[in-house]
Amino acid sequence: MPAPFPWIAEELETLAEQGLLRRRRTARRLAGGWCEIDGRKLVDFASNDYLGLSHHPHVVAAAQRAIAECGTGSGASALVVGRSIWHERLERRLAHFEGQEAAILFPTGYAANVGTIAALVGNDDAIYSDSLNHASLIDGCRLSGATVHVYNHHALVSLEGRLSAGRNFRRRLIVTDGIFSMDGVPAPLPDLCALARRHDAQILVDEAHATGVFGRHGRGTSELLDVEKSVAVRVGTLSKAIGAVGGFVSGSRTLIDWLWNRARPQIFSTAAPPAGCAAACAALDIIETQPALRERLLVLSQQLRDGVRQLGLETIASGSGPIVPVLLNDAPLAVRVAEALEQQGFFVGVMRPPSVPNESPRLRITVSAAHEPQMIERLLGALKIVAAAEQAV
Ligand SMILES: *Cc1c(COP(=O)(O)O)cnc(C)c1O
Repeated sequence: MPAPFPWIAEELETLAEQGLLRRRRTARRLAGGWCEIDGRKLVDFASNDYLGLSHHPHVVAAAQRAIAECGTGSGASALVVGRSIWHERLERRLAHFEGQEAAILFPTGYAANVGTIAALVGNDDAIYSDSLNHASLIDGCRLSGATVHVYNHHALVSLEGRLSAGRNFRRRLIVTDGIFSMDGVPAPLPDLCALARRHDAQILVDEAHATGVFGRHGRGTSELLDVEKSVAVRVGTLSKAIGAVGGFVSGSRTLIDWLWNRARPQIFSTAAPPAGCAAACAALDIIETQPALRERLLVLSQQLRDGVRQLGLETIASGSGPIVPVLLNDAPLAVRVAEALEQQGFFVGVMRPPSVPNESPRLRITVSAAHEPQMIERLLGALKIVAAAEQAV
């Protein structure tokens, strides 16, 4: 019998030639900003555990207690019987944290985006989506069946043109990352909110990389840029700064009731485990009572960003916060630099198409409040040697 899918071997070969083949690694994340990759201990500059909360003793203990009380799995979708007392507590907790009427949990942030967009717009509607939006927003747009206009946030004039020309659509929704996940750059939310207001559209902001990190209370870019009242739908994830797993949406009571009834991942996917919700509740306590943690994160992030610039490497000028890209503009080069850094004891993200545009492969270095300033100094020292050897500077 011939092998099934003979074309796959050829396609994999092509990916390998282009430097786009992904290796599967086995990781164990450790406390203090460390990880073990395939059995070797490295400093972790690749994960999104921005505040180090996934290893915080209070967060870990909360999860352990919840497992002892409720077991490991949720057993069913939230709509059937998967919504535990921890889901209920966390939804109330999130609504309070976000200063909103209500919140709803999803199994993941990905599911929150896909399910929410598809529940809010359909065939008769239009979506305006930033060209750098996360794949989960893009997939939600596709799944919704709405007409999708992709805009570039450096050219909002063209977005305004599209909005003016789109009066005949039944509903219009602007969707954007709050912080673009590969660039670490905030979206122009004040301008977008003004456009939405002028053209009778609503706006959805995905705060995945901003919840717990930006804003005086850690509520994200909407808080940082003072547009919380204008953002109709705020999506967040529990899997990054909050250190657990799951996604959420916060907004008006009617919005949340609608999503509870109509967002398909809510109905057809098993709820995240109760222990994750208990961990997230404990993490929110820490985020609320210890603003020094995010202040430390922003100081460490600036240390790395300044250091990268001083080395003459290209990063993104308007970036701020813990996502520090190093643009290498060549996929095989990015892979070699990351491998050389790994030899030196540092694990960094390598972002290649389709995660980033074809012309901008990069390292994506992420900082955590669990790091020490010396770890960042040592990373910069290694980056200097590696970049010089590769003539990347
Ligand atoms: C990570 C991420 C998500 C998905 O969140 P998960 O909880 O990991 O599924 C959604 N949006 C953005 C911008 C992200 O970076």
